[in-house]
Amino acid sequence: MKDEPDIIKELRQQEKLGILKSRLVNIFDINEGQTTLFQTSSGTINVFEKPVKDDKKRSDTIDISKVKNIENRLIESDEKYKNIFNEISDLLIYLENDIILDINEKALEIIGLKKEKIVNKSFSVLNEIFSEIDMKKHLDAIKYANKGVKHPDYESIINSKVGTQHRYLFSTDCIKSKNEIKGIIIRGRDITKRQKAWEELVKLEEKYRILTETSADGVITIDPLGRLTYANPSFEKLLKRKKSKILATLFRDYLSEDSVYFFQQIFINVRQKDEKIENIELELIDNDDIAVPIEVNIAPFKKNQQFAGMVCTIRDITERRKIEDELKKSEKLKTEFMNIAAHELKSPVTPIKGYLDLIISDKDTSEKVRNWAKVSLRNSERLLNLVNDILDVSRLDTDTMRFEMEKIDTVKILDEIAEDMRPAIESKNLKLETKIPRDLPKIMGDKNRLPQVLKNLFVNAIKFTDTGSITLEAEKRENHIQISIKDTGIGIPKDELKKIFNKFYQAYTGDDRKNEGTGLGLFISKEIIQRHNGQIWVESEIGKGSNFFIKIPYLHQMVFNIKE
Ligand code: ADP
Repeated sequence: MKDEPDIIKELRQQEKLGILKSRLVNIFDINEGQTTLFQTSSGTINVFEKPVKDDKKRSDTIDISKVKNIENRLIESDEKYKNIFNEISDLLIYLENDIILDINEKALEIIGLKKEKIVNKSFSVLNEIFSEIDMKKHLDAIKYANKGVKHPDYESIINSKVGTQHRYLFSTDCIKSKNEIKGIIIRGRDITKRQKAWEELVKLEEKYRILTETSADGVITIDPLGRLTYANPSFEKLLKRKKSKILATLFRDYLSEDSVYFFQQIFINVRQKDEKIENIELELIDNDDIAVPIEVNIAPFKKNQQFAGMVCTIRDITERRKIEDELKKSEKLKTEFMNIAAHELKSPVTPIKGYLDLIISDKDTSEKVRNWAKVSLRNSERLLNLVNDILDVSRLDTDTMRFEMEKIDTVKILDEIAEDMRPAIESKNLKLETKIPRDLPKIMGDKNRLPQVLKNLFVNAIKFTDTGSITLEAEKRENHIQISIKDTGIGIPKDELKKIFNKFYQAYTGDDRKNEGTGLGLFISKEIIQRHNGQIWVESEIGKGSNFFIKIPYLHQMVFNIKE
């Protein structure tokens, strides 16, 4: 004890005086009586420095503030690493000489074994959780790491003791100290979720692959330069060419001359507008040089926000075309038949009408017979109208209605129709009103067909009006003349307004409907007006009346002069 340096004596003195909180266990003089390291019964290791001589205050007594608790610091830093080691979401195993010296909590949790079952055991203790093949992968990686060589990362399945299975990606690194390999750290990253997501994706892609591969329609993808990047078996069949021969070639090379230009326009459109285009009819030329009609739907697709090409579905419409052609043929036959039938019906009606006219006007005819003849004449006129309507419809359907367009004096034509209709209007005790400006410009039109439309509107107005008036009005608007025929009749239900222009459509007028007709008049009128570049529409209110409008472009003075 005598030989003890002052610093240690001092320390013992402090112990006696109770300045140190616990009993001294070990004291090491590490700096010839200048600094000691001492350990107390509480287990802490402390540094104690000899008080500086000229420091009066501290010369005799130990300044306890000089005692630095380095153990706490050691523990602190150790704990810091321990925490990192344990709390890291990766799985970590530390080995020295192939013996596991430490394993983190994440690894224990995944493996499902207690720490003491693993630590201080050789790595092969883990063969409980790794398959034979995976174990070999680990041992190989450890072998490489022992030599300081980096082994490529590898996947391994962990069959946890608690029955779960995890897929991990492992990497093994050596830890060097002063250029010497001290140990090996094995790190595993959970890729179970990633793998699952990948498998889902593969499944999904597989689903789409099966869908496209088995689709009855052709499916192709085209790159931004128009080259084929994918073709399904149906497309190969359609084109009668093998996929290997067509991939990377231009899709347009397989289109007919007429379709190429059209397709190019669509391609540019799809690309610029970034929109899909549906039901385009093109013509494909197959390997036997046969033109195949196809219907194509095109949709653009992107990669990294940029146009990456297009997906096209292609349907062979040869059969559909055949059916359509057949239909057209039978439609034509039907129209031809109607044409002939109408003509045949018309020829006997004309002389019947003639004779009835004679009977009515003959002064020898008795009043009774005259009345019978009048009824017959009315009915033969109806028959003639019906036949004429049917003839007109068939002409319109076959586009064989002839229009002789000429310059028409609008005022004259309107005045004439008003006068023609006046007797029929007045005989029903209705009032005819006209508002026709005298300076209306001329129009181009057929001088028989336009009055036919106006007459039809008048006949309807008379038919569906029992009291009040019928007004014919016209006015010059910007670029067109607007004509209207307005009545104060029964009106048309709102939901019928558009339908009445359909072929054979008659608005429901109740059981007591006495106004017979064919339902063709407005259809014919609409078609005739459209062929004059005009429009026809109606405004109506039930119980108040209807107002039919016609809009026809008029001739500007200049154009008119040139035409003359
Ligand atoms: P039709 O008069 O021979 O039945 P239209 O094609 O000329 O055939 O007219 C179709 C239908 O439109 C008529 O049946 C009628 O229901 C309705 N309609 C046409 N004009 C009028 C009108 N001025 N007032 C009321 N309903 C009308």
